[in-house]
Amino acid sequence: MTIQWFPGHMTRAKRQIQEKLKLIDIAIELLDARVPLSSRNPMVDDILQGKPRLIVLNKSDLADPRATEQWMAYFAHEGHECVAVDSSTGTRVNEIPIKAKEILHEKIAKQIAKGMNPRAVRGLIVGIPNVGKSTLINRLAGRNIAATGDKPGVTKGQQWIKVGTEMELLDTPGILWPKFEDQLVGYRLAMTGAIREQILNIDDIAFFAVRELAGRYWKVLKERYELDNAPSDPEDNEQIVQVMEDIGRKRGCLMGGGRVDLEKASGIILRDLRAGKLGRITLEAPYDDMPAREV
Ligand code: GDP
Repeated sequence: MTIQWFPGHMTRAKRQIQEKLKLIDIAIELLDARVPLSSRNPMVDDILQGKPRLIVLNKSDLADPRATEQWMAYFAHEGHECVAVDSSTGTRVNEIPIKAKEILHEKIAKQIAKGMNPRAVRGLIVGIPNVGKSTLINRLAGRNIAATGDKPGVTKGQQWIKVGTEMELLDTPGILWPKFEDQLVGYRLAMTGAIREQILNIDDIAFFAVRELAGRYWKVLKERYELDNAPSDPEDNEQIVQVMEDIGRKRGCLMGGGRVDLEKASGIILRDLRAGKLGRITLEAPYDDMPAREV
């Protein structure tokens, strides 16, 4: 389902969102709580043209709660309201209409002062593919609305979905492209499953994952795969391959001659990581001195 983002697609996606901005009061920028920067569109400020905005950190059930708190503080510092939710179960999604009203309170107060009956706040969800836009729309709507899948070039008739009595959402989200020119971003998105293995090699993604985890989250790897030897230098590629081989051996991924089947081991590592089996992990810290999670 990964989209090829050609320049024409990007222009069209931007134009489609900007058309929708005319209809709405507030944009809901959806980010992945595990990779809040990598899941951000590089031009989002330009695209949203100063529209009031609520940042929603989705998949917070899979993210390190302490890191999520830091990210919320970070976005608040940048002047944005922010909530962290889990759209798959609905945890805290009810805060979205409440926060949206708070952000728009001046506009609403002016309407009331003019004797107008304020109408429901109108919102649009925007975000990169796989960040959970359709899941969140369905949650907020309380029923199945949006088809999962992304076709940036395709428009269909848009409808307003009621979210309680005080908010309405456009049923089709705004689809943004990721910062794919940055290799680090590509690997981080691939680790979360947002970019499929057809584009990046599974061994490479798993290697990158183990290298990222071997530092701050070593204890998590150690406990899950009963590893003994921590790499003395998580930047040393050979030591990281060694860790992958240790994991493969523990999981019985062996080929002839006792060699480790790295591709099989890679599949296990990525499946565990994406399913949250390694615990709640955030791959990006707003501040470099973020302490390690205690396990
Ligand atoms: P979209 O491309 O942005 O519309 O993303 P989808 O709504 O299709 O979601 C992509 C995947 O992420 C699906 O497998 C969802 O079940 C999953 N997902 C969405 N939100 C959450 C969440 O908050 N927590 C977890 N664990 N998974 C989620």
